[in-house]
Amino acid sequence: METFDAIVVGLGAHGSAAAAALARRGQRVLGLERFGRGEALGSSGGWSRMIRIAHFEHPWLVPFAEASWDRWQTLERETGTSLLRTTGGLYGGPVGSPVLVGARESAARHAIAHEVLDADEIHRRWPIFRPADDTVAVLEARAGMMRIDRANEAHLAVAERLGARLAFGRRVVDWRPAAGGGLEVEDSDGLVIGAEHLVLAAGPWVGALVPDLALPLRVERECPCWFTPTVDPASVGADRLPVWVLTDGGTTFYGIPHDPELGLKVSIHHWGTFVDPDEVDRVVADGDVERVRAFLRIRMPGANGPLAHARVCLYTNTPDEAFVIDRHPAAPGVAFASACSGHGFKFAPIVGDILADLVTTGTTDWPIDGFRASRFSGPAPSGSARPDPG
Ligand SMILES: Cc1cc2nc3c(=O)[nH]c(=O)nc-3n(C[C@H](O)[C@H](O)[C@H](O)COP(=O)(O)OP(=O)(O)OC[C@H]3O[C@@H](n4cnc5c(N)ncnc54)[C@H](O)[C@@H]3O)c2cc1C
Repeated sequence: METFDAIVVGLGAHGSAAAAALARRGQRVLGLERFGRGEALGSSGGWSRMIRIAHFEHPWLVPFAEASWDRWQTLERETGTSLLRTTGGLYGGPVGSPVLVGARESAARHAIAHEVLDADEIHRRWPIFRPADDTVAVLEARAGMMRIDRANEAHLAVAERLGARLAFGRRVVDWRPAAGGGLEVEDSDGLVIGAEHLVLAAGPWVGALVPDLALPLRVERECPCWFTPTVDPASVGADRLPVWVLTDGGTTFYGIPHDPELGLKVSIHHWGTFVDPDEVDRVVADGDVERVRAFLRIRMPGANGPLAHARVCLYTNTPDEAFVIDRHPAAPGVAFASACSGHGFKFAPIVGDILADLVTTGTTDWPIDGFRASRFSGPAPSGSARPDPG
């Protein structure tokens, strides 16, 4: 039986980062991915993401976001790849809306320099926006857009350069303790491989690899769209427009400045259709696009040009919208992660480190109590859906 120090199952955002982190520690790594290289049929498809520091979902994640920002820049230098463009970030909605409240709380708690803008000021600075009159938004400078296809590939390239073996089109169906110690991993061809350490980073499919833990994950079909703007594309490019998240009429929309290769991205945060990831309808329907156009017609008419791209992608949600990152309670050397809930990409370098820490040492210096799987089996925290380890 072939053996490795560490096997990583799933080579999306977090598996590719974990493979790189383990390879950096001198581990002999095997990465196993069920689909083809770059196919990204889980949560890491669709080319672009936002990176935000004044994180509205969970203010306690700000230090993770700050460290990740630095680490992406290091990865850019290391691989000679352009991954991140600073654009600034605008987050808001009506007074009292969770996006606005969370962004203000993050900024205040972590002393993040920011401005607070009303609807008129938002329109004055970026005429493409016609926000509802009651819109208020936080603007921070340190936010931007990422090319995640390149980012995944950069982590994979680092792992390979340091000796990792990566295998695509290989679906893991089981893992178990080996009779003589260590672990065994079995793929869908019946091939069994040995390892001391195992990272399960299977995104929307991770629950099936730890069925004993009954993780309360729900997979949601999303349909990000890219449009050819009707205004001058340069006026809504990365030099001019921030990444943005705005709640309007009870729905939260977000967007990423115009990328000449892709278009101007506008989408809905949480489309609301829960699916089996093996059964999901990957065809973009007219109705999907119409949901975004209905917003554009009123709030961003200059974005409402021809559809440039649209792609079905999957959120894997936890009940509190934080992540699940933990070691397996009954299997030393095994850790798993679902770091999504629609906002996990930016954290990949740090998630990769945490996973490498957990499998090689059983612990990590990062404060991960808010990520532990055990939080779902205890009593619900009173007064708040957000676990906050401080
Ligand atoms: C539309 C959309 C917009 C988003 N926007 C943002 C954003 O702006 N900012 C942000 O920070 N985050 C954002 N996110 C979230 C972010 O993309 C995810 O947090 C991240 O991609 C999750 O990566 P992952 O590695 O956990 O999962 P995945 O990318 O799904 O990777 C898991 C991999 O495991 C493989 N796999 C599964 N089962 C097996 C098996 N049995 N054997 C082998 N391989 C297996 C899968 O094929 C897959 O490649 C967004 C997500 C979506 C869908």
